[in-house]
Amino acid sequence: MPLTPYHFGPGLFIGLLFLSFIDFPTFLIASVIVDIEPFLVLLFNLNYPLHGFFHSFLGGTIIALILTVIMTKIREFFTPLMRFFKIEQEISFKKILFASLLGINIHILLDSPIYTDIRPFFPLDFNPFYRITSLAGSLETMICVWCFLAALIIYIIRLIIYTITNRRKNHSSDENNNLLQNQLSLKCKSPFSPKTFINGFFNLLCSVAWIFSMCNPSSYNNNIQRKSR
Ligand SMILES: [Zn+2]
Repeated sequence: MPLTPYHFGPGLFIGLLFLSFIDFPTFLIASVIVDIEPFLVLLFNLNYPLHGFFHSFLGGTIIALILTVIMTKIREFFTPLMRFFKIEQEISFKKILFASLLGINIHILLDSPIYTDIRPFFPLDFNPFYRITSLAGSLETMICVWCFLAALIIYIIRLIIYTITNRRKNHSSDENNNLLQNQLSLKCKSPFSPKTFINGFFNLLCSVAWIFSMCNPSSYNNNIQRKSR
């Protein structure tokens, strides 16, 4: 039987594959949320089927609508976690609604062939998906495991593509920065180039030397004498 954690397999696989249509964190939560029902039945020892109303398409849809409202309010708080795992998505009500409905209904479809107490078409009292096999739930468990492995491969490929794209972006931005710096240095070259600075310094020295020679009394006398001749 697919225990609750196994449902993360299809959740991860379908969620990663259809990121453009499905809100990823909502889909993961939707994939397991209806198992709160058997958890509460076991916890409080309730006189109620383990897979009752909320494991039907009607009950699941009600949970999906409640989950959609909650996720629409709190979805933004998942963004840092999504960024950490390099799975960034635009938040959209349509994606959240679709993810909630799909995730919960896939869960019900995976549970229906295994458990005798499930009534997927409640209030109708029958389960057309139920299969009598020697190893109940082995096929569904295998589907969940294979989905998990496929999700792992998809995630690794996504990470590789993300790294390559990021490197290219950084490389092109570095080239742009270098180009900008070159342009700036070209613009600044005429007033601040070393050659201009040396020329200016040399001119200043000449000017100072000329002023000193003019202020020197002996050269002043020589000049007077030259003029009087
Ligand atoms: Zn379940």
